[in-house]
Amino acid sequence: MIGHELIYNLLEEGKNVTKEDIKEILDRAKNKTGLSHRDIAILLQAEDEGDIKEIFKIAGEVKKKIYGNRIVIFAPLYLSDYCVNNCVYCGYKRNNDFKRRKLTREEIQEEVKLLEKMGHKRLALEAGEDPINCNIDYILDAIKAIYETQNDNGAIRRVNVNIASTTVENYRKLKDAGIGTYILFQETYHKPTYEKMHLNGPKANYDYHLTAFDRAMEGGVDDVGAGVLFGLHDYKFEVLALMLHNEYLENKYGVGFHTISVPRLKKAEGMDLNLFPHIVTDDEFKKIVAIIRLAVPFTGIILSTRETHEMRKEVIEYGVSQVSAGSCTGVGGYKESEEKKNKPQFEVADNRKPFEVIKELIDEGHIPSYCTACYRMGRTGDRFMQLAKSGRIQNVCGPNALMTLLEYALDYGDGELQSTVNNMIAREIENIEREDIRNLLLEKIDKIKKGERDLYL
Ligand code: SAM
Repeated sequence: MIGHELIYNLLEEGKNVTKEDIKEILDRAKNKTGLSHRDIAILLQAEDEGDIKEIFKIAGEVKKKIYGNRIVIFAPLYLSDYCVNNCVYCGYKRNNDFKRRKLTREEIQEEVKLLEKMGHKRLALEAGEDPINCNIDYILDAIKAIYETQNDNGAIRRVNVNIASTTVENYRKLKDAGIGTYILFQETYHKPTYEKMHLNGPKANYDYHLTAFDRAMEGGVDDVGAGVLFGLHDYKFEVLALMLHNEYLENKYGVGFHTISVPRLKKAEGMDLNLFPHIVTDDEFKKIVAIIRLAVPFTGIILSTRETHEMRKEVIEYGVSQVSAGSCTGVGGYKESEEKKNKPQFEVADNRKPFEVIKELIDEGHIPSYCTACYRMGRTGDRFMQLAKSGRIQNVCGPNALMTLLEYALDYGDGELQSTVNNMIAREIENIEREDIRNLLLEKIDKIKKGERDLYL
């Protein structure tokens, strides 16, 4: 599936190109039709400052055309730090000696209530791999507990799941439990590096890990989210490999990645960043985001709080469409006080509370969105992609983002935020071309102001 020789050759050929070649690729990229492997390799090899600026500019334009000024907000929830693997880079590795724990049903509900009080509607469940302490039934019970936990107007409406690669049968159970996206990072597509990084435990099996999305698709999960842990191997190799993987799924199942995450390696317990020769610089990171945006324009790009506030601001312009806010990367982290926090899986760089993130996004002209409508309306997999590619999704995304932002402002905001959001809604409604959609939105906004919740198109 991931032909290493093919990638090396593409990267080699990508070196010998002219400015005109790059310009021609970027002109095509403006049409939102994605890029070929050859195009991607060429852009990855671009070094000239002017060319790179142009890549950022066109990526920004494509992002704006497809996602407008919306940005989806989510938070991770760490359930368990038990782990039988020994991933060299990870704080949860088996060889790290610390007191491990998993949340009980009551603790899960406490964490969820805290997340709901921050306004969150969409979670990404995280857990180490441990078939005894954290088996599939534990995960399924956790999902059930989360969906059942509501306080005041708070409710988690979409649970995405980032757990270890598993069987078709287990993916089917996850689907039946109502998950949104199944997320799994390949960490590195470069097999020799993968084997060095995953010394033992089930995750050491490169092929089993790589074929997880095949099993997920067979189990009926058609929204899958990929990722690479940037810093383990050459980023150019990884971006091309991600694209090959995406294309393989498109050809075989009719739909590729729903999202791509772009985590960068961070300091963690029991690892030394100096021992990783492929650490990605800030400039390279921006280039990665922009090239992915051009290569797969309709695939969401997810950024976590591993990145600083400043970096998040910049890459949102070039392609990122979802960000986490107010994250804790330790089990029970939302409840534990700062001093008593449980071992995090890695360090975060953006510690701001969601309220600050939301206010700042709005000040910068973005519409933070808590929308979870698509998967609840059955718009998943290729149905989502067709709607997205036709542009018709704009008729629902914009209004849904505004409705969820209004809910946020009314339930968790202060007077100042409420008035900013009201002004924003008034402005945005003007830009909606279809009169029927405008009227529908106005009607629903009125209902939300009167206390109704969870309205969407
Ligand atoms: N245990 C599951 C698995 O093996 O896929 C779930 C994933 S783990 C909770 C989430 C992700 O954190 C990993 O896939 C990895 O990419 C990332 N991660 C681990 N150590 C990291 C580090 N030191 N810096 C940044 N990200 C890290």
